[in-house]
Amino acid sequence: MLFSENKLIIAILLGAVAGIIAGALFGPAMVSVAWIGDLFLDTLKMMIIPLIVAAVISGVSSLGDIRKLGRVGGATLLYYGLTTASAVLIGLFVVNLIQPGVGIEQMSSTIPEKVAAKSDTGIVDIITSLVAPNILFAAADTQLLPVIVFCLVFAAALTTIGEKNVTLIHFFDGLNEVMMKLVVWVMTFAPIGIFALIAGQIGKAGGGTAIKNELLAVGSYCFTVILGLTLHFILLFIILIIFSQQGRTYLLKLLRALFTAFGTASSSATLPLTMECALEAGIDKRSVKFVLPIGATVNMDGTALYEAVAVMYIAQVYGYSMGLGEQTIIFITATLAAIGAAGIPQAGLVTLLIVLNAVDLPIESIGMILAVDWFLDRFRTTVNVWGDSVGAAVIESYLPEKTA
Ligand code: ASP
Repeated sequence: MLFSENKLIIAILLGAVAGIIAGALFGPAMVSVAWIGDLFLDTLKMMIIPLIVAAVISGVSSLGDIRKLGRVGGATLLYYGLTTASAVLIGLFVVNLIQPGVGIEQMSSTIPEKVAAKSDTGIVDIITSLVAPNILFAAADTQLLPVIVFCLVFAAALTTIGEKNVTLIHFFDGLNEVMMKLVVWVMTFAPIGIFALIAGQIGKAGGGTAIKNELLAVGSYCFTVILGLTLHFILLFIILIIFSQQGRTYLLKLLRALFTAFGTASSSATLPLTMECALEAGIDKRSVKFVLPIGATVNMDGTALYEAVAVMYIAQVYGYSMGLGEQTIIFITATLAAIGAAGIPQAGLVTLLIVLNAVDLPIESIGMILAVDWFLDRFRTTVNVWGDSVGAAVIESYLPEKTA
């Protein structure tokens, strides 16, 4: 098993590298393979709703009673909160240190409609998005937050009805097993899928030279974001070593999921693979089913870090100085905005508006960082998935003893 697992990691890595080379060399011609990438992405997305419903309900009900759920839930929320907050602090630290926006000319460009349409998004919207009036519509529309909230409450109630819950629990356990089997099958398609996603995206962006020019225009901004993300990735690794039973090899076992996160720029689409990799690494099933689906939706360290850097960069370009008060507002709103961001490509760009609004920066300023957002999205999504995976390893130690 390990042998084929390693072979798959190498194949995925080769697929990613070949995608970068092909996209850079052949440019727009590679748009012709983009459909293969979309097919892979759709196959992953197709599994999200049944997998989340089955995993969360069977995971929560396997924790036992509601009090045990409270303890694990509390530890999980604490982990999400503390790691997201430290990501924002790292972001603020690097952006203050490097000051990438100082002395940069303002550039303007048109704002995409999906961003402009959400220009008055606020924190209240995040809170109201926790519940949907019609759970089936929410599921059909892949709004994961209300679906997860419903499943959590449903499963908590399930643990209170005595023996009458047996059939339902068996049903959701079985559904979860079937979904995980599908994930293993789909995973073999990952090398070609990731190749096509990356080559197609680079092709759409105009090929190697066009991207090089775009990146050079905002080079120190990109460098700051990627440096911050790297530091946070390392911090999470240290947390893994100190607070979990997993050793360094956990990172290697997670590589397939991390490459997929990079290739798809979507933590939700990557979720099936993240769960499979964590299970193969030996993480307790209950932690995998509970921590990962919720984490893929609410725990986004990379996004939070990126939002803090982006807003500070924009302020620096405008020549506004951001004091402790403003940076505290950025700290709070970036943390909340990351919770509200969906696990889909460039969702962070939309919730960035919340942070911009909070410190009174114009939303048009998003134009300055738009061209490179698809690129940075891949790095922050990888960190988002790594944060969830480390969470599953850490929370494992807080699980109640298994009952026979
Ligand atoms: N693409 C990210 C994710 O799926 C969200 C973001 O845009 O930051 O995790």
